[in-house]
Amino acid sequence: MVKVWQHLLKDVVTPDYCIGCGSCVATCPVQALERVNEKPALKGVCINCGICYGTCPEVVDPSSLQTQVFGTPPNDELIGTYKHALSVEANDPGVKIRAQDGGAVTALLSSLLEIGYIDAAIVTGTAEAPWYPVVRVATTPKEVLECAGTKYSRGPISLGLREAVNMYYRKKVAVVGTPCQIIASRRMGLSTPRNEHISDAIKLRVGLFCSGVFKYEDFFKNIVEKSLQIPLASVNKFDLKNEKLIIYLKHGPSRELPLREIRKYIDLPCRICSNFSAEMADISIGYVGSPAGRSTVLIRTELGEEAFAEAGKLGKFSVIDLASVQPGLEGIRQGALKKKTSAAQAIEALRREKKVLPVWLEQPSGETIAEPIESDKGICHI
Ligand SMILES: Cc1cc2nc3c(=O)[nH]c(=O)nc-3n(C[C@H](O)[C@H](O)[C@H](O)COP(=O)(O)OP(=O)(O)OC[C@H]3O[C@@H](n4cnc5c(N)ncnc54)[C@H](O)[C@@H]3O)c2cc1C
Repeated sequence: MVKVWQHLLKDVVTPDYCIGCGSCVATCPVQALERVNEKPALKGVCINCGICYGTCPEVVDPSSLQTQVFGTPPNDELIGTYKHALSVEANDPGVKIRAQDGGAVTALLSSLLEIGYIDAAIVTGTAEAPWYPVVRVATTPKEVLECAGTKYSRGPISLGLREAVNMYYRKKVAVVGTPCQIIASRRMGLSTPRNEHISDAIKLRVGLFCSGVFKYEDFFKNIVEKSLQIPLASVNKFDLKNEKLIIYLKHGPSRELPLREIRKYIDLPCRICSNFSAEMADISIGYVGSPAGRSTVLIRTELGEEAFAEAGKLGKFSVIDLASVQPGLEGIRQGALKKKTSAAQAIEALRREKKVLPVWLEQPSGETIAEPIESDKGICHI
């Protein structure tokens, strides 16, 4: 008994819980789904296989994959399972200048590509529309570097994965993504049935710490560009730190927006997300925990341990123990606690306002027996 596209439409897309990761589109074995206006839409004939529902990150409690991924409960309730906590800095000044923090993500991926540990990395850059997230298949360190830096909106990283597999014939792909995107990449490999042609190509999952994303049109175009009169093309860097969004301009002084004033533009799925440190990744990377100009790295799995050690042999980054810097692990714990608390409050508010709740709160497993529902192509028999 599986849930299929029409359930995904009803449970996720219509109530606006879709994160636009493109996983359902990428794994559809008959290419019946397409991404339209950042959301999936049925364009072909659905065969009711249920792969799209099985891969969606928004139909399960973020912590529900813990046992499947790690085999044991987390060793830290707030930040999940990890083996090593480190503070990392890229050695190349050219990387440091383009990177968001210490350049750990870029240095790690470049090293792994150079030694052939991975044959592609799915990264998020921008193209013609300034700061609009565009997913790219990077096969060289130069392409990885071009996508360094944080974009505070989400792109369809799973479509990048599909492109890497179907057009570049890549088999050892690293995906870089926010906690929800990493959950999608895990579900792709763990759910039944699955599209192994796509999911088996994932070699490594690099998660980013995340306190939420903004919708490009609502926030960056309407607020930053139209209301605040800051042309997006004039922005050198956005940085969400210490409860404010700092906007560094290419020319002139930077601007700051307090987070409390712009929190309402944070995307709905992020407001109820309790996963700060990308708990399901092989390696998670953020800034909190380390001094400015460094990246904090949590190595969570054996695979993450191996990849990090192999990459380290190239000497592109320097590593110190997170325990030797301030605020260290405690900083990550505080970030995680804040996100878990505000997610719980947001869920309570949704309940009070009698809004549609995410399906995993209504049906905790997210995998309950499906009722047949009317589809625009007839009844889905499940
Ligand atoms: C939306 C968002 C919110 C974040 N919030 C926090 C936070 O609250 N606290 C914290 O400690 N860290 C946060 N981070 C992580 C932080 O901004 C840096 O990405 C991290 O510290 C790594 O820095 P770096 O210099 O090592 O990365 P870089 O070497 O600069 O590489 C960054 C990598 O991130 C990828 N990337 C950029 N934007 C996106 C995106 N939107 N989706 C998927 N991948 C992307 C790029 O492809 C690139 O490979 C957030 C990241 C994102 C995307």
